[in-house]
Amino acid sequence: MNPNLTITPIKEWLPGIKRPLVISGPCAAETEEQVLQTARGIAKLNRVSVFRAGVWKPRTRPNAFEGAGNKALPWLRQVKAETGLLTAVEVARAEHVEEALKHGIDILWIGARTTVNPFSVQEIAEALKGTNVPVMVKNPVHADVQLWIGALERVNQAGITKLIAVHRGFYTSDKTQYRNIPRWEIPIELQTLCPDLPVVCDPSHICGRTDTLQAVAQKALDLNMAGLMIESHIHPASALSDAAQQLTPDALGSLLNALSVRDVCSENKAFTDKLESLRLIIDEIDENIVRNLAHRMAVVGQIGEYKQDNNVTVFQMERWLEILRSRIASGVVHGLDESFMKELCELLHKESIRRQTAILEVRNRNL
Ligand code: PEP
Ligand code: MN
Repeated sequence: MNPNLTITPIKEWLPGIKRPLVISGPCAAETEEQVLQTARGIAKLNRVSVFRAGVWKPRTRPNAFEGAGNKALPWLRQVKAETGLLTAVEVARAEHVEEALKHGIDILWIGARTTVNPFSVQEIAEALKGTNVPVMVKNPVHADVQLWIGALERVNQAGITKLIAVHRGFYTSDKTQYRNIPRWEIPIELQTLCPDLPVVCDPSHICGRTDTLQAVAQKALDLNMAGLMIESHIHPASALSDAAQQLTPDALGSLLNALSVRDVCSENKAFTDKLESLRLIIDEIDENIVRNLAHRMAVVGQIGEYKQDNNVTVFQMERWLEILRSRIASGVVHGLDESFMKELCELLHKESIRRQTAILEVRNRNL
């Protein structure tokens, strides 16, 4: 079923917005001083439109810092009065929506842990009825584009047309350089299904560290995303949450200055955008193939040792024939060429045998 979203274009509700839209501020509002100092540093850059700060923080374990709560809302009002920045907070419950709106917060966002739960999203949507306050919906923790679209639809059906989707990466149990793997193909699919919906990238929660932010932010712009949400803190090292991924306002300025924003008017823009998106998907797929190959070879090694412990030969004809038969059949079902599949299996098998034999040789040498 195609998504059915009614979207008010950003430029109608954020007049004079710079491209890309930049949203920044601390992971969490901790103290009045931290909030105001961070906001002043950000405002000086003259490049950020929206000040973000988590007031109610969803934490993995109890007793971690759960945000300053309601008392932080007047600090944000102060940020707006002093700097002119719009303010945004995360809402996870109906009462968060009510409190935020009572204190003049401009934009609300639904966090990744909330987007996964249709009951919570619906509760928030009910509280939003009749407000038409702008809402940003972060992707759900796991890579399910339908769940993301579902949350956007629930909010939209409550009458919210000022919508932004935020891509913050996805949980994986694999060891990767990312805190949350980007899976760029998912926001690209969202953009394809909902062409009017602005999608903003949150490199901070994708990277979980600061040294890779620049590359991820650039990639998001190269993919023609509408903006960036990047966490910043006046003293990142002493932040009470997400300390490793926050930038000082000055470092944020350097990151933004170093970004290249591509020419929107280039004649071939549609072509280059599409080509770039497709190449990024290929990069992601190849990275997955390499990870899976490494995993396969590690398991092959374990099997090699296990066979040896049990005095079983490295090569077993029936198993090999079964692998060849089933992988070729599966490849053909997925539209892959039969002889390509055969060659691929032979290559994999050759390397697996080489690995297991090598293990055997090392062990024999040590006997
Ligand atoms: C956040 O923006 O600080 C946050 C909690 O993010 P997410 O919902 O993406 O984990
Ligand atoms: Mn955070």
